Amino acid sequence: MKLIDTHCHLTFDDLKDDIDGVVARSIEAGVCSWVTVGTEPGRLEGVIALTDRFENMYAALGYHPHDAKSVSDDDLLDLRKLCANDKVVAVGETGLDFFYDYSPRQVQKDIFRAHLKIAEDLKLPVIIHTRNAFDETMDVLDEYKGRLKDVVIHCFSGTEEQTRLVLDRGYHVSFTGIVTFKKAKETRQAAKMVPLDRLMVETDCPFISPVPVRNQRPCEPALMIHTARKIAEVKEMSLEDFAEKVTETSKKFFGLL
Ligand SMILES: [Zn+2]
Ligand SMILES: [Zn+2]
Repeated sequence: MKLIDTHCHLTFDDLKDDIDGVVARSIEAGVCSWVTVGTEPGRLEGVIALTDRFENMYAALGYHPHDAKSVSDDDLLDLRKLCANDKVVAVGETGLDFFYDYSPRQVQKDIFRAHLKIAEDLKLPVIIHTRNAFDETMDVLDEYKGRLKDVVIHCFSGTEEQTRLVLDRGYHVSFTGIVTFKKAKETRQAAKMVPLDRLMVETDCPFISPVPVRNQRPCEPALMIHTARKIAEVKEMSLEDFAEKVTETSKKFFGLL
């Protein structure tokens, strides 16, 4: 079995110091490929450098909506340049976070649009972060209708209606360990609705450890096996069949075939 963790932050402090152990445990668990996501101005080169050390490790680069207010025009130029690297398979995460509101909403929208323009120009798929801003996020994406190679809504925990709106637009949906949480009935319902050719799995580590290891800190890619097992269960299929299908979907999405 060979799963892909389609969204992790392996350069974050909690994981980078033990990266060889993190990668070894991941492979042992059947998670043999990673898209590590860089989010901070000035630290994106380090993400590419890490991917150069490991086979089957790729990068997605962007500036998190939290940091939108500190992103300069030079930072955006850097992003555009770095995204041309062979190891970069997506732009993002980018989007809107109106839950924390760490950056003014208008600034978040402007920086989001700048990312979408880069994704369009470089013909790269884009990873979307959206929290308490679903409608506004869809509105901005709609401005780029027909211009983006592919879109995934990451760490998805939307309602049935939101799931439908995402699928209608042809986007992909990616699930974290949230789908394993006892109270996350709605998210499991969403996982049921999303067809396998649009569904991906991620840890978003070092955050969000899945049940039954929910208290483990930091979360790491090896733990994604629990999330995959839960979704396979929801879809009433074997873990092996599920893994094969979502791995194919992920490879297609990120152009890893
Ligand atoms: Zn995110
Ligand atoms: Zn993330």
